[in-house]
Amino acid sequence: MSTQWVIAETAALAAELIGGLRDLEDGVLTAFVGVDATEAKTLIALGADRVVALAPGNSTPWEDYVFPLVDRARTEAPDLVLVGATRRGRGLAAFLAASLDAPLVSDAKALSRREGRIQADRMVLGGLAVKTVSTDAATVIATVAAGVYAARAADLRRSGPIETLEPVAGRVRVTGRRLKDGGDVNLAGAKRVVGVGRGFADKADLALAEALATALGAELACSRPIAEFFKWMPEERYIGISGQAIKPDLYIAVGISGQAQHVYGIRDAKVIVSINKDETAPIGQKADYSIVGDLKEVLPVLTGAL
Ligand SMILES: Cc1cc2nc3c(=O)[nH]c(=O)nc-3n(C[C@H](O)[C@H](O)[C@H](O)COP(=O)(O)OP(=O)(O)OC[C@H]3O[C@@H](n4cnc5c(N)ncnc54)[C@H](O)[C@@H]3O)c2cc1C
Repeated sequence: MSTQWVIAETAALAAELIGGLRDLEDGVLTAFVGVDATEAKTLIALGADRVVALAPGNSTPWEDYVFPLVDRARTEAPDLVLVGATRRGRGLAAFLAASLDAPLVSDAKALSRREGRIQADRMVLGGLAVKTVSTDAATVIATVAAGVYAARAADLRRSGPIETLEPVAGRVRVTGRRLKDGGDVNLAGAKRVVGVGRGFADKADLALAEALATALGAELACSRPIAEFFKWMPEERYIGISGQAIKPDLYIAVGISGQAQHVYGIRDAKVIVSINKDETAPIGQKADYSIVGDLKEVLPVLTGAL
């Protein structure tokens, strides 16, 4: 019987990867997840055969699970390992791949198995093209972002063992913890998102977008320059190929030009609305509805109407 693994920091991401893997392979599926016993049981109902809880305490860094995971992979020899593409997940996947001398497909989509080979799509050239890769390696590791797959419906009749993986202290030590601004953002699960871009000339004008988001019950997000260059919003809120991919029912892009790298992250939004003063801006090609006008005039009217 073949063996597959899922490794994810959270139960929500693990549930999606388990759903995706279950459609692809029918071997023994072990999920290594940062969960407690109750969440672990839920993951069994969602399709895992076995859950191994990684429960780092306040003084245990995530890195301390890397060596135990490598050891275990050497023994169990999983043929496919899907790792949640969070920052920690990406680092862990690279370490695992290097240690096992296995190929790593980063940010994989549309995974399939064809004539014994694992095939996957991944974006290249800053999101302008899709590259299809395939490998017949005995162990293949792939990082998969939130939102690529959907969790299956829970089957409460399923049962399976739940274990705990003991961390092995390495050279990284936790010396302190502090809350990160914006760390609790859940854009991946948001139904409505208002995205702001460089069309906002002044940070104070973001209040206009915040008012719209409040009226809509939406999360606030942004393009990369707003987070990375201006630092007006935390990095967790930027959308695109190097940020987050989202799947809301409604995405409103305000003062965003719609470059390919940004659009990559909103392609799966059900309805896209753009607010832009330039009617030739590329976002117009992607939007279902375009409002051409100055955001300072449009936003108050829209918020008022809502
Ligand atoms: C490898 C790589 C990866 C990248 N990854 C990402 C990514 O993940 N996410 C991302 O967002 N970008 C990413 N980028 C950057 C991307 O290419 C664009 O530069 C960026 O998305 C542009 O952001 P913007 O739309 O906010 O700004 P701009 O392109 O400057 O657009 C601003 C828009 O606002 C409009 N505007 C101006 N004033 C007003 C006004 N008063 N009212 C209404 N509209 C107005 C303008 O007409 C314009 O269309 C990446 C780039 C590279 C090379």
